[in-house]
Amino acid sequence: QAAPLGHSVIPIVNKLQDIAAQLGSNPAFDLPQVAVVGSQSSGKSSVLESLVGRDFLPRGSDICTRRPLVLQLVQVKRKADGGEDEWGEFLHLPGKRYYDFHEIRREIQAETDREAGANKGVSDKQIRLKIFSSNVLDITLVDLPGITKVPVGDQPSDIEARIRTMIMSYIKIKSCLILAVTPANSDLANSDALQMAGIADPDGHRTIGVITKLDIMDRGTDARNFLLGKVIPLKLGYVGVVNRSQEDIMLNRSIKDALVAEEKFFRSRPVYSDLADRCGVPQLAKKLNQILVQHIKAVLPSLKAQISAQLVSVAKEHASYGETIESKANQGTVVLNILSKYSEEFSSMIEGKNEELSTS
Ligand code: GDP
Ligand code: MG
Repeated sequence: QAAPLGHSVIPIVNKLQDIAAQLGSNPAFDLPQVAVVGSQSSGKSSVLESLVGRDFLPRGSDICTRRPLVLQLVQVKRKADGGEDEWGEFLHLPGKRYYDFHEIRREIQAETDREAGANKGVSDKQIRLKIFSSNVLDITLVDLPGITKVPVGDQPSDIEARIRTMIMSYIKIKSCLILAVTPANSDLANSDALQMAGIADPDGHRTIGVITKLDIMDRGTDARNFLLGKVIPLKLGYVGVVNRSQEDIMLNRSIKDALVAEEKFFRSRPVYSDLADRCGVPQLAKKLNQILVQHIKAVLPSLKAQISAQLVSVAKEHASYGETIESKANQGTVVLNILSKYSEEFSSMIEGKNEELSTS
């Protein structure tokens, strides 16, 4: 089935953690944060949810995301019996574990209302949620309120400026990957998402374009030229997706079914048949994974330096024992061997992985 975010990176990250443990050091590196930007109801929450592979975010045709949701994915070890345990915990409710993801959604809604009121108010105060699972890697995703132009309900008259400032405070961070979400049934060339991403990331080396709602474009039109980057070029390119519609939400359609339907959609549209690598949530996950691998590759030299330093100190210790204390000397050699084996294995793994990923 479709690979959610992190799927192909998890073995590498696990290996790195093993190495870090051998070195007795703290986490070897941080993965970049991923944030979504776009206008209201463009499909931001839907995209994030598909990437995580679980149903738990408020979505809908109205304004649903009214506070930034900082979603920390935390990898936990598989249970001894091989079974899986996945749960969520909110910062504002310490110690309480949510195993039912629909309940997580209800709590996000309730907590949104507590801070921002029940009448469409927006607040920049974060909701922080951790999802613990053996199927995720340690990464932070941020779901943000969408850009809206006309104040409704309790929204102040300067709502657009406020939301833009809030979004910018996240996406201006240099290590933040930006998913710029634009619905295909709008004027693509006037995308709020791409406009804001362009300001935060003028070089375009951390912005991925996501085109949603390909299924409800005006008859006779398609997003081909956009996906090809012919309208607004983007270094990291575009991925087109089909998320669940409002009707699907009302019918409680599962993520799994939605992914099957998405695949069928692209298979039945000849106009997208030669763009398979730019179509579908699994491709978006793959693209993100490639970027994460690049990031890991970039931090590799410092990790290697750490290992080498460790090797030198082990060798010194080894020498200081002289030849009289056999067992200690042997221990040193064993550690040395383990470390160099790890180092080699890890390098070939990273390099092999990149070859495999870059041939897409
Ligand atoms: P957000 O406000 O950007 O977070 O958007 P949501 O994810 O809440 O989605 C807004 C509405 O658009 C919901 O009713 C979704 O069901 C619908 N929607 C999102 N993506 C798609 C899509 O690809 N196709 C269709 N038909 N509807 C979508
Ligand atoms: Mg949303």
